[in-house]
Amino acid sequence: MTEMKFIADVMLGRLAKWLRILGYDTAYRRNIRDAELIRLSLAESRMILTRDTRLIKKRGLKNYLFIIDDQFVAQLKQMVSALHMSYPKNTFSRCILCNEPLLSFSKDAACNIVPEYVCKTEDIFGRCPKCNRIYWKGTHYKEMERILRELFG
Ligand SMILES: [Zn+2]
Repeated sequence: MTEMKFIADVMLGRLAKWLRILGYDTAYRRNIRDAELIRLSLAESRMILTRDTRLIKKRGLKNYLFIIDDQFVAQLKQMVSALHMSYPKNTFSRCILCNEPLLSFSKDAACNIVPEYVCKTEDIFGRCPKCNRIYWKGTHYKEMERILRELFG
């Protein structure tokens, strides 16, 4: 099975961010129009994640999941169950802001940029090739581990 790809509607920014943290290719734009959302879904084989029943009915969507809850952990739980998602293999591999896969970044180079305490406590860094943001296992990582336990036990 090929890896699942998603596109989230404007109401699902937090869910999109967390799907990226878990490693899923998830398109999201804050101001996207319905027509563009659907175009991208078709062009890039992305499942539409939406809280908008009007969109589903009006456009006769096929490749979509209607997200029931408005809280992101419950939303993730629904996805895991509805889409039979297994434990993600590529967690922390994408930029939270751009969705780009991260490139590895040497500790030496990172230590020129990140705060000193981060340099002292972290060994593995990643860099987004699009926005150049540097990633390490910080607070998001701890929260991610907690959420993964909630999702998969
Ligand atoms: Zn980025």
